[in-house]
Amino acid sequence: MIFFLVTALINAITSIILGFFVYFKNKKADLNKIFALFCLSTAIWSGFYFAGLIFGTAKSIALLFMKALNVAAIFIPATYFHFVIIFLDIYQKKKKLVILGYLISVFLFISGFTSLFVKDIEPNFLIPWYPKVGITYHLFALMFFSFVIYSWYLMFKAVKKATGITKLQIKYVLLGTLIGFIGGSTNFFPVYNIPIPPLGNALIVIYVIFITYAILKHHLMNIRVIATELFTGLIIVTLLIYTVFSPSLQEFLIRGSIFLAVTIFGIFLIRGTLREIESLERVAVQERALRQRAEKLAKEFERLDRAKTQFVLATQHHLRTPLSIVKGYSSMLLEGSYGKLEEKVQKVILGINEAIERLIKLVNEFLDISQLQVGREILKKEETQIEKIIEEIVGELKPVAKEKGIYLKFEAPKDLPKIILDQSKIKTAIFNVIDNGIKYTSQGGVTIKCQFPNEKCLIIVADTGIGLSQEENKTLFTKYFERGKEAEKVYTTGRGIGLYITKNIVEAHQGKIWAESEGKGKGSTFYIELPLE
Ligand code: ADP
Repeated sequence: MIFFLVTALINAITSIILGFFVYFKNKKADLNKIFALFCLSTAIWSGFYFAGLIFGTAKSIALLFMKALNVAAIFIPATYFHFVIIFLDIYQKKKKLVILGYLISVFLFISGFTSLFVKDIEPNFLIPWYPKVGITYHLFALMFFSFVIYSWYLMFKAVKKATGITKLQIKYVLLGTLIGFIGGSTNFFPVYNIPIPPLGNALIVIYVIFITYAILKHHLMNIRVIATELFTGLIIVTLLIYTVFSPSLQEFLIRGSIFLAVTIFGIFLIRGTLREIESLERVAVQERALRQRAEKLAKEFERLDRAKTQFVLATQHHLRTPLSIVKGYSSMLLEGSYGKLEEKVQKVILGINEAIERLIKLVNEFLDISQLQVGREILKKEETQIEKIIEEIVGELKPVAKEKGIYLKFEAPKDLPKIILDQSKIKTAIFNVIDNGIKYTSQGGVTIKCQFPNEKCLIIVADTGIGLSQEENKTLFTKYFERGKEAEKVYTTGRGIGLYITKNIVEAHQGKIWAESEGKGKGSTFYIELPLE
């Protein structure tokens, strides 16, 4: 009995205070108004509950209170649903349901004054008086559960989509009202003769605590300052009354000093909160502005990058055509289509022919990068035995390694799975890496391995060559065509685009490429990871 009394009283007071805070923080906002209304319904319900338990010794008075508390409870589900709808910002979509909720509530409210809602009261186990209900009460129970459960469902859906602070706020409201309403619904049990005590008031207190915490901690409805001011004000006023009613001068002095100390502390507390919130808001405004600027710049950059790539693409097309024509003519010259050439001239034309071929290859490589960047589908994927490609490359590069006096080994495991990829592009990519290994190694050699961890294909090319510094490793795959100093000495005619092309091809296959090296002179290992499909 005492338990029901105390929890009802606490609940009534906390709900009133909470509703009051929220309403006065922003009288115009619908969210605050509706929430205050919801708190009011809860507070009146708990208030009458408390009053009924205290004063309802005579049955006639108890009946009056029981009727009143149930009538107050009628508005709880509709106002709660309305609050959730505005809170989730879906009022326009659910407007009709909100209106329906209020219509049912008004109907129930009117019926609440007749014996259709609460017929009579009777002693129930634990509680001196509990209502015997009429026909419209069942409608209330039905409405209560459907509106509340539907609100939870909507919040549950919203919490999944939301991010950041909104997610946290929804979580608190959802969790708080879950506890509160599951508790609240236990008050229906005695009505339907289910022997579970009505724990509504006790559990709704927890709900109030949750919502208050959400407000204070996560800016729900932004009333943190007001809450601090009001709480402090409340304590100060209580202490003042306490001081004024001191029984003796000595007591007056003690209470007075406590009052003064708390007042000073309170002022500092409010000032501190205000300052903190101000600076937080300033930071938030600055951060928002910066983010917007960064987003704008990123978009502009992306647009320029695309324009540049398109430009390069167009230029390369125009380069390739005349180059192919020159190559055609020089080949025809060499073949003697325009008469027999002197040996001296033939040598010159041969040189021209080779240079043109190199140039065409270079332009093609550039064209590949640009196309991969613009995102054109230039991959012709097919099922491939990756070890066949590596073996081909090793076959082509073995003579080069032999000439340098270094080894080139491929350690291929048996029965490798098939991979779906663009054979010629991937061959170019792996070729570049193995070719580099040979180019930048003068002692020892290059070892290639192929593994299949976690449904992926990992190609490892390890050499015992000049190695990489940490700085070099950072810019290795970027488009700045940088070359290492040591590399420039070892291999003078390098162009610094091989790895960049390789990276583009690997990434077009949704793969990854990276390098590791213990440092200068300690060899390097390159990794290419490709998905199986
Ligand atoms: P290139 O070899 O024509 O310079 P790449 O794009 O293939 O162009 O390589 C870029 C740079 O990366 C090289 O100049 C070199 O400094 C470094 N590099 C690439 N592979 C290796 C390797 N196996 N060992 C050491 N350095 C390497």
